[in-house]
Amino acid sequence: MSDYQSLLRELPAVDRLLREPLMEDLLQRIPRKIVLQAAQKIVSLYRQKITISSSPGALPEQINLSPILLAEEAAALAEKITAPNLKTLINATGVIIHTNLGRVPLARTAVEALSEIARNYNNLELSLDSGKRGSRQDHLEARLCELSGAEAAVVVNNDAAAIFLALNTAASGREVVVSRGQLVEIGGSFRIPEILIASGARLVEVGTTNKTYLRDYEAVVNENTAAFLKVHTSNYHMIGFTAEVSTADLAALARKRNLLLIEDLGSGVFLDLGKYHLPAEPRVQDSITAGADLVTFSGDKMLGGPQAGIIVGRKDLIAYIRSNQLARILRIDKFTIAALEATLHLYLDEDTALQEIPVWRMLTASSESLCIRANGLAARFAEIFRPGRVTVIEGLSRVGGGALPTAELPTHLMAVRFDPEDGNPEDFVEKLRHGEPPVILRLQQDSLLFDPRTIFEDQEDLLVEAVRKVNQL
Ligand SMILES: *Cc1c(COP(=O)(O)O)cnc(C)c1O
Repeated sequence: MSDYQSLLRELPAVDRLLREPLMEDLLQRIPRKIVLQAAQKIVSLYRQKITISSSPGALPEQINLSPILLAEEAAALAEKITAPNLKTLINATGVIIHTNLGRVPLARTAVEALSEIARNYNNLELSLDSGKRGSRQDHLEARLCELSGAEAAVVVNNDAAAIFLALNTAASGREVVVSRGQLVEIGGSFRIPEILIASGARLVEVGTTNKTYLRDYEAVVNENTAAFLKVHTSNYHMIGFTAEVSTADLAALARKRNLLLIEDLGSGVFLDLGKYHLPAEPRVQDSITAGADLVTFSGDKMLGGPQAGIIVGRKDLIAYIRSNQLARILRIDKFTIAALEATLHLYLDEDTALQEIPVWRMLTASSESLCIRANGLAARFAEIFRPGRVTVIEGLSRVGGGALPTAELPTHLMAVRFDPEDGNPEDFVEKLRHGEPPVILRLQQDSLLFDPRTIFEDQEDLLVEAVRKVNQL
């Protein structure tokens, strides 16, 4: 019992912890109230420890009660409480469009535009020509029309919102015809049939899973039909005995029967992927040329911009969409407009787009350049791990984000092998996820795999340090 009393007397008081030199710097950055709460919490935790260790039958325990140790713990707790939840991390998975990891990083000029607009007043809804009220949509429309060949454009929160708004405006209470092969789920349980029904339209399915013909569409058209919806099956690929109706054929039938053709592309591609040895992907301008009345796509997939849903197409239809009350609910903010405008600007020159837009830089990185980077990283990792554990192997990166599911992107991976004496690789993966910064990577059998394709060159030092720290734990 006297032991208990003396330990309690030894327990430093809260203000003693706050007087430790290390607190001085901390109190510059973190409000005193938070630091005080953290110190109180640590002192009370230690009081509990003393009580438990002194209770009858408890094992005797050495408890270190040095003020500096407790102050360090309080500081760590205060840091943890005030750390941001949303933080940057290193994507070593090789998945370029990674929805869990924020989809795609922005181009430098897009970030600069965003930050400039965020810090200042701007002409978001003011026409500088007339001095009167303008539309926020005017900042993007001309560029989108130029790139896509469409007459008009409107931009909303994301592609799901774009489809919803297009259908709600053009087909609420009426029938929309969709091929059974295109009733897809996109991810995060976003499903085309559900979004169509939520928009107020009635779904009419035609064809079969693998084959749908023009005559299938033709057979169901009646006076209640408003539109055909063609959905790009962007996240899976069907091979074998299949048939799909082309945009051009569907557009011709729609025109003949006085219906609309709405095409959801998912990814907004303006460049010709064939040139870069990637599987063909319909470009936005191809759908417009083929005669689609409205085309929808995402801003943050292959386009490489901020989260947005873009609708391009016929002027009269876009005007209806803009005047829909729901357009106000789904409208985009000034940050997105700034970042999207700057991203679209980069497409004016194809080489600039390839170099400046991170998605395209990563997509078109050559296997040789990735080999050099993997070997460079391996040399640095060889200083951390026992000889023989770090190797460079050939592998594949993925486009991800429900785009180009069959694309093979040859890469070189840096692999760190775990033998039984090296501990559990799953534990290591988890510790890296909690690291500073967190590192997300692939685990294949007993090896951690780092794909340089999605690791930025200016992150390499941070990566080496994060791994070194985890390895020392
Ligand atoms: C990704 C995708 C969507 C949804 O796009 P968001 O911008 O995430 O809302 C819709 N349709 C298709 C075909 C897609 O690939």
